[in-house]
Amino acid sequence: MSSLVTLSPQQQELAERARRFVEQELLPYEVQAERAGGRLPQEIVDGIRTAAVKAGLNGGRIAPEHGGQGWSATDYVAVHEQLGRSTNGLWWWIPDAYNVLTAGTPEQIDRYLRPCVAGTAAVSYAVTEEHAGSDPSRIATTARRVVDEHGEGWLISGEKWFVTSGDVATTHVVVAVAEEGPTLFLVPADAPGVETVDDPPFTHSFPHGHPAIRFTDVRVGPAEVLGPLGGADALQQRWFVEERLGIAVHCVAAMGRLLEEATAWAAGREQGGSRILDYQGVSFPLADSAADAAAARLLVYEVAALADSGADPKVVHAKASVAKLFASEAANRCADRVVQVFGGRGYIRTTAAERFWRELRVDRIWEGTSEIQRLVVARALERRGVRAVIA
Ligand SMILES: Cc1cc2nc3c(=O)[nH]c(=O)nc-3n(C[C@H](O)[C@H](O)[C@H](O)COP(=O)(O)OP(=O)(O)OC[C@H]3O[C@@H](n4cnc5c(N)ncnc54)[C@H](O)[C@@H]3O)c2cc1C
Repeated sequence: MSSLVTLSPQQQELAERARRFVEQELLPYEVQAERAGGRLPQEIVDGIRTAAVKAGLNGGRIAPEHGGQGWSATDYVAVHEQLGRSTNGLWWWIPDAYNVLTAGTPEQIDRYLRPCVAGTAAVSYAVTEEHAGSDPSRIATTARRVVDEHGEGWLISGEKWFVTSGDVATTHVVVAVAEEGPTLFLVPADAPGVETVDDPPFTHSFPHGHPAIRFTDVRVGPAEVLGPLGGADALQQRWFVEERLGIAVHCVAAMGRLLEEATAWAAGREQGGSRILDYQGVSFPLADSAADAAAARLLVYEVAALADSGADPKVVHAKASVAKLFASEAANRCADRVVQVFGGRGYIRTTAAERFWRELRVDRIWEGTSEIQRLVVARALERRGVRAVIA
């Protein structure tokens, strides 16, 4: 019998294309990126971007009429199961856009979405604040309505933390509380009143920073309102499913590579008169990791198939949380075991296992911590029913 995960010939071709791209365009630069704290010289970045566009990997989930590839959730997972094999977040260099931008007006799509997909602009997404992380109801950034010589507008004031790519973005999507409720605003990074107040180093070495950005009475007009006034929460729900699925599949990809490298190493390394793979102290953790990886992979593809089939979005939301929770926790277990299998080499930053061991840690934190995923799943058990969550 064939695998439960069956890709169409087109999806297989897409996955193979992504694998070639990873091997030729990303893996060769991992150690260089690591040694430089995540950054790469501009000519290498340009090369990666050009190759990604040529390989048809940019703007994966964005509609073709906006310059993207129009992938289904399953296509996306098949591609990211390859991209996530790279360390240092090198796939982040591929031109892409936050899906909330698809809620824009035709002018906003031309101005923000298309350039992101083409790789000529970068937009960050600023939700988290010092006192609003897991609990977005504590968001204190405000959008105060004004009528002045420019007409109707809003003054945005507040401070956002952990703004990924906030150091390079030309525009920030900022969640601010307007009279109508939390709303998404497109704030130019060079607008008066926008300042970076901190750009701290993080555990991983990533292409971009995650700075804290302060907004002081930054004036925006109606053209900078993204989606309906008060519409931030509904738009973000869509984003969460895609992002959580993305994180889960990156964890699956990392586990695959970790297992391949660890198995090859353990089969070739001899100590105490035997291959270390012949010691159960080494092989059993790898077997446990294989079980983790196989289970996570099935979950991820199941969520993608459900999303593609038009299943109840609330069930897909819960299942995406199950996948993110399980895959991220499993990948961290797996990376820890594989570092142990590599011994001292597993502690050297030029070893992929060491990098994954650090980099995978954030997958239990961002886009909703593991505890928040448990909350989502626990609520779904009661509201959607146990069968809907596990079957
Ligand atoms: C590298 C990185 C990049 C990021 N990029 C972005 C970005 O681009 N844009 C953005 O807006 N944000 C971003 N974030 C922020 C990220 O989404 C938050 O860090 C995350 O949601 C957790 O919020 P917090 O850090 O405030 O932790 P807190 O919410 O303060 O949580 C602290 C601890 O308490 C637990 N906890 C909190 N509430 C509950 C509860 N109800 N029940 C049980 N346990 C609970 C948490 O699970 C956690 O263990 C990024 C974070 C990192 C580390």
